[in-house]
Amino acid sequence: MVTTRSIFHYNAEALSDEREYAKIVSFIDLILHRDVPLYREIANKAQRLKDLIISLEGFIEANTSVVCPQCIRVCCINKHGYYELEDLIYLRTLRQPLPLHDFGLSETSPCQFLRKQGCSLERFIRPFRCNWYFCVPLIEHMQGSRGRDYRDFNSKLQEAIEVRRNLINDFKLASDII
Ligand code: SF4
Ligand code: SF4
Repeated sequence: MVTTRSIFHYNAEALSDEREYAKIVSFIDLILHRDVPLYREIANKAQRLKDLIISLEGFIEANTSVVCPQCIRVCCINKHGYYELEDLIYLRTLRQPLPLHDFGLSETSPCQFLRKQGCSLERFIRPFRCNWYFCVPLIEHMQGSRGRDYRDFNSKLQEAIEVRRNLINDFKLASDII
């Protein structure tokens, strides 16, 4: 049986199973649709996280559009296209419909959301690991950007990580598990 305590044992691997995934999404919705204490704070943090991710899009795209087309080992494989529990809490707090996943695909095949032009998911709904994975050539290219742009990117990135952590802590608090 799913409990508020047990859901935090689910990792991305467990959530690549269709039944487990459906069970956890329903459970998160159930918690969020109760009159959850702290709901307003959780929702504000989810919105802030979304805004931060959207605000970083231009900088990230400006760099990936140069570096990624040259890549010979594209990092977008199915294994990375599944959500973590924290992603689901963030997205369901936003009342965001989730993309339809195919389950049971080869982990190492190209990600089901990958298209010729790149990822077909809007950036703010991509798994967190996708938004914050930067390979060495990409980081090096970013570091070559205007100093102010790179500093702004770094500071927003740090804020996003912190907001996400606080959002999850609030969710845990609200569901009485810590
Ligand atoms: S982020 Fe790095 S590893 Fe991934 S596709 Fe771009 S260049 Fe390749
Ligand atoms: S960025 Fe998009 S295409 Fe790449 S692994 Fe993540 S979900 Fe898949």
